[in-house]
Amino acid sequence: MTSDDRKPTTTDAGIPVASDEHSLSVGPDGPLLLHDHYLIEQMANFNRERIPERQPHAKGGGAFGRFETTEDVSRYTRAAVFQKGTRTDVVMRFSTVAGERGSPDTWRDPRGFSIKFYTSEGNYDMVGNNTPVFFVRDPMKFQHFIRSQKRRADNHLRDHDMQWDFWTLSPESAHQVTWLMGDRGIPKTWRHMNGYSSHTYMWTNAQGEKFWVKYHFKTDQGIECLTQDEADRLCGVDNDYHTRDLYEAIDRGECPSWTLYMQVMPFKDADTYRLNPFDLTKVWPHDDYPLIKVGKLTLDRNPTDYHTEIEQAAFEPNNLVPGIGISPDKMLIARVFSYADAHRARLGVNYKQIPVNSPLAPVHSYSKDGAMRVKNVSDPVYAPNSKGGPAADGERYPTDSTWQASGDMVRAPYTLRQDDDDYGQAHDLINKVMDEAARDRLVDNVVGHVLGGVKEPVLSRVFEYWKNIDATIGRRIEEGVKAKLN
Ligand code: NDP
Repeated sequence: MTSDDRKPTTTDAGIPVASDEHSLSVGPDGPLLLHDHYLIEQMANFNRERIPERQPHAKGGGAFGRFETTEDVSRYTRAAVFQKGTRTDVVMRFSTVAGERGSPDTWRDPRGFSIKFYTSEGNYDMVGNNTPVFFVRDPMKFQHFIRSQKRRADNHLRDHDMQWDFWTLSPESAHQVTWLMGDRGIPKTWRHMNGYSSHTYMWTNAQGEKFWVKYHFKTDQGIECLTQDEADRLCGVDNDYHTRDLYEAIDRGECPSWTLYMQVMPFKDADTYRLNPFDLTKVWPHDDYPLIKVGKLTLDRNPTDYHTEIEQAAFEPNNLVPGIGISPDKMLIARVFSYADAHRARLGVNYKQIPVNSPLAPVHSYSKDGAMRVKNVSDPVYAPNSKGGPAADGERYPTDSTWQASGDMVRAPYTLRQDDDDYGQAHDLINKVMDEAARDRLVDNVVGHVLGGVKEPVLSRVFEYWKNIDATIGRRIEEGVKAKLN
């Protein structure tokens, strides 16, 4: 490129500037002048470059791509995005949960797996994880759980004693903690892990028939994980290992993909199923509800500006399209409020006008004004009106993703069913899914983690917690910890 081809630097107002290197001064050695607007603009912009980071899921990366529905699942949902042959643009973001924006990608932690589908019926978001379950089942505990994983008040350090204190006082965490301490607790890359909706959602077909569903995005790259030692080494060598891997793979043309499968439960089954199908700490065993193939998600385009396209991307499980609804999962109901609220706090009330968050479908809403609104509002600004403004069409878009609810207002756990214990599925994971070598690594991982600062009385509770999950594994963990402490 010759110097003639280069674009001249301008201010943000498009005014050409005279120098990229020299401030305006009184003589070469004199003081600087306040009316050097370009210098002031550069300094002011720099001071405001960082926006608040996400509270959980602060460290992450992402890319663009598409989802193609390859199978006919119209008997389960009328959502346009899931009609056979439909291709839909997507943006995705992967993340860790507990770490801050600069924290290592290879910490042991669940990974966020968020997708925004730019569908013809508006944006549809799935804010999933790489695990099918979660640590808690009531949103009242979520904030406390995240605080226990982040930093102490006094020394501003993360603290394994605090983490195990919370987990051992919250037995519903057993399944997710077992999963986390196993091999899949540190994926090799974001490309080599599955993604799950974790929550149960509702699908509704064109006849108004309802189904409960769970999403499983299975990696086409195959599952690969890092051992604790490999991950620890990478923390020191390349903090951004996963971010770099995704970007470089797409740059090389190795576009990662995931095949979407669904578990589908007939609406009425939920009343009598042996475990609560809406409890976020449980999976639906595949033998009961086998996977049904739906389509393929492929990422093939890197962002050109991480900040505008990934950091400002706002995923929100309230973005649901006709044919898809929520379920009585208490965590999901709370997230439907809290994600949009987090975006309003972090990005401002008009965050949906940031290009990455704007739908491709036309918007005819009555939202108005507010900080940083950039799209024009036109009259009439109220409904109902007789001036030709948008009018809701309840016949075409009925409120049908619903279920019946009644009862006294209470603060109570879910009603227990036959198989609703906290430890059973964690026990199955250890004994039916892991092999002997994986169980050895599980014990090593827990022993190493506990030795990283867990003290009495939490320590004794850790041994009890694991014995409740599996007597042998619990005993081995106790022996392993005590052998190192003595
Ligand atoms: P299945 O034998 O039918 O399925 C086992 C599942 O476990 C597969 O989805 C497999 O994923 C996954 N898996 C394999 N190794 C690990 C590991 N080290 N950590 C976590 N997951 C792993 O069994 P069930 O459906 O009866 O479930 C048994 C247990 O498997 C559950 O308690 C749960 O902990 C775990 N699981 C179940 C899932 C479900 O939706 N039913 C989903 C994921 C885990 P893949 O095939 O991709 O390798």
